[in-house]
Amino acid sequence: MDSIVIRKPREIALTERPIPEPGPGEILIKVMASGICGTDIHIFNGEYLGAYPVIPGHEFSGTIVSTGNLVKRFKTGDRVAVEPNIACDNCVHCLNNRQNFCLNWQAIGVTLPGGMEQYVTVPEKAVFSIGDLPFEQGAFVEPLSCVVHGVERAQLRLADHVAIFGAGPIGNLILQMARLQGAAQITVLENNPGRAELARELGADLVFSRLEDLQPNTYDVVIDATGVISLMNRGIDFVRSGGTVLFFGVPPSGKNLEMEAFKIFQKGLTLLSSYTSVRNSFQAVNLLQTEQIKVEPLISHRLPLKELPAAFDLIERHDPKVRKIIMLPNG
Ligand SMILES: [Zn+2]
Ligand SMILES: [Zn+2]
Repeated sequence: MDSIVIRKPREIALTERPIPEPGPGEILIKVMASGICGTDIHIFNGEYLGAYPVIPGHEFSGTIVSTGNLVKRFKTGDRVAVEPNIACDNCVHCLNNRQNFCLNWQAIGVTLPGGMEQYVTVPEKAVFSIGDLPFEQGAFVEPLSCVVHGVERAQLRLADHVAIFGAGPIGNLILQMARLQGAAQITVLENNPGRAELARELGADLVFSRLEDLQPNTYDVVIDATGVISLMNRGIDFVRSGGTVLFFGVPPSGKNLEMEAFKIFQKGLTLLSSYTSVRNSFQAVNLLQTEQIKVEPLISHRLPLKELPAAFDLIERHDPKVRKIIMLPNG
């Protein structure tokens, strides 16, 4: 089968390897749609967790081709999405319902072979039925589960004013989740015109391209969906006193924030981060199946697997036409 491997930072290649066999409790999935995430770019650039070589792709869906012994919930032909973080269920964090901090954490597409190949084996507990949801939408179960987790952590209140930095695929999912959570007004900061347009289409009330256009000391909740340090530093200036700043975007590792400690104190702020998700895949599937969250407009490209290096290049060049890129390993 075809498989994409990142051998080391900045070195990516299409290779062939045998189709894996599912072991006991494992499921073999034919990958039908596999989304590219900012995290994949961080892995490609050597800025994330995990060791090399790695087969990327942690946002994917597909069809079950075979099941190993002991698999109970699924059969061949089932349409499924994958929750890529694999927790051990037996460490101090797992036993305390904090599986995202599992001491023995593994992740499909980060430490284990991911969805940027034609077939992948995954443990049954990581597999979720998507019913008749289109595969391309099923590829959003993982990013949406992370967004559900993050927005729940921010504890939006009815009629809040929310500011979102960044209208990439994640910013646009956050925008829709914030609306569902009852936000009265949502302001988006985005300087890429294509993405700004998408945020307007998906219901943003105001979209600005420059940080200076936002109102200081105003928003109940400010959510950073960029991971850009210079923007993360500024959230505390725009949140109202007593408000919340959520750092959602993945920043590069090894870089520090810089913000005025006294301002955080005086404004009585709550600063939060959000790391992956904790059992939020059911919610994500429900939100997609009921079209409460729309992901079709987020997709700009559907490409065959061999185009992955070119797709990374498109993303890194910040082409305004690029939204979510979905790879079709068997398409
Ligand atoms: Zn991701
Ligand atoms: Zn654990």
